Amino acid sequence: MNAFQMAQAQFDAMADYLHLDNGVTSVLRWPLREFRFQIPVRMDDGNIRVFFGYRVQHNDARGPAKGGIRFHPSETIDTIRALAMWMTWKCAVADIPLGGGKGGVAVDPAELSIGEQERLCRGWVDQIWKNIGPRLDVPAPDVGTNPQMMGWMMDEYARLTGSYAPGVITGKPVGAGGSRGRAEATGFGVVYTLREAMRHLNIDPSKTTASIQGFGNVAQHASAGFVEQLGGRVLAVSCWDRQDRTSYTFYKEDGIDPKFLQSITDVFGSIDKDKALQSGYEIEPGDAWLSKDVDVLIPAALEGQISGETVHQISDRVKIIAEGANGPTTMDADEELARRQIFVIPDFLCNAGGVVVSYFEGVQNDMNYYWSRQEVLQRLDEKMTTAFHDVLRVAEGERIYIRNAAYIVAINRVVNAMKFRGWL
Ligand code: NAD
Repeated sequence: MNAFQMAQAQFDAMADYLHLDNGVTSVLRWPLREFRFQIPVRMDDGNIRVFFGYRVQHNDARGPAKGGIRFHPSETIDTIRALAMWMTWKCAVADIPLGGGKGGVAVDPAELSIGEQERLCRGWVDQIWKNIGPRLDVPAPDVGTNPQMMGWMMDEYARLTGSYAPGVITGKPVGAGGSRGRAEATGFGVVYTLREAMRHLNIDPSKTTASIQGFGNVAQHASAGFVEQLGGRVLAVSCWDRQDRTSYTFYKEDGIDPKFLQSITDVFGSIDKDKALQSGYEIEPGDAWLSKDVDVLIPAALEGQISGETVHQISDRVKIIAEGANGPTTMDADEELARRQIFVIPDFLCNAGGVVVSYFEGVQNDMNYYWSRQEVLQRLDEKMTTAFHDVLRVAEGERIYIRNAAYIVAINRVVNAMKFRGWL
């Protein structure tokens, strides 16, 4: 089952539960619009290389489509469709007035020079600019893309349209239309929902330990927040090693130092093994993060990591799984987690912090007035906390698995918007 089939199956199950009529189900189980295009890029050696780019707009009933652009070698239209659909649910569950979209390019950005990266980013906008815009579809960074790339894309859009429209894209650098707090938004959002989950389960956060998959944007800030805000300890993080073409887990019995590890991590989230070893970190196989004897697991790298084959590796001590990544748990694994009564904070709720601050960025762009970091993070905390309790209320009220409760909250909001607009 690929990611999109999984997203559709999750939706179908909830459509049945909610007794949605066939018309509504048909609209929502496929994207409204899909774009696939060539991006010819002049490489440094003078040759032209053609990349394939995508943009998928799943649903925009609640507002302009919203979602990241991924640069990843194994990117496919189905991954992007799935992620676009999850964005629809994510914006709805967070109750921000945006729809769901996603884009990408099948490429390993680390193999490109800075100049090639810039030409690829500008080339992506050249092909799709008529179908994106502040009131149409607003992209953002995701796996393999960063604020600098968003800056180039915003600039290309301004050149093509002849006017400054920073709201066309979010995740821009601060000082170039970006919002303070955007870099840490997703990771901190994970921590805010974790804090609420621990409060609900009567767990003292300062006595907890965590193990994290990934050490990119989400994982770095989630680990920093876990240590600094909750007072817990992160025992392990993991990352992909491009040279060895495999992943590794970095473990420290008394807890990692997130700031130190960040200082030896490159912009693609790969930790320097030699420097980590010199500082007393143990380096283990890439999947070791999953079997650590900890209270909290935070998958924050790729989809499909907790599957029917791997779920049994999870320690009996684990009480909460906070899904920082999109789609990290397969459906068969989900059944096992529910049976074991592990409290799962589902991806489209848990990692909604990024899109919430992206929304705040658009609001600030519209006002042309910028909030302080503290103001942004306080508003983010309010949104995440409200969303968590909206979902928890349905889970408890209907006695259903929390992921299903999140779907119910989100789908109902999207269906209501479609009805209100007369689409149904
Ligand atoms: P990133 O590119 O900054 O980092 C990805 C990290 O995952 C890197 O440390 C990389 O080394 C690691 N990784 C890649 N393959 C791995 C493997 N096989 N095993 C272990 N580690 C591996 O990406 P990110 O922005 O942190 O995003 C991570 C996840 O969170 C993705 O699923 C993304 O869709 C999701 N997400 C990101 C945001 C955001 O604001 N950045 C928002 C919501 C969801």
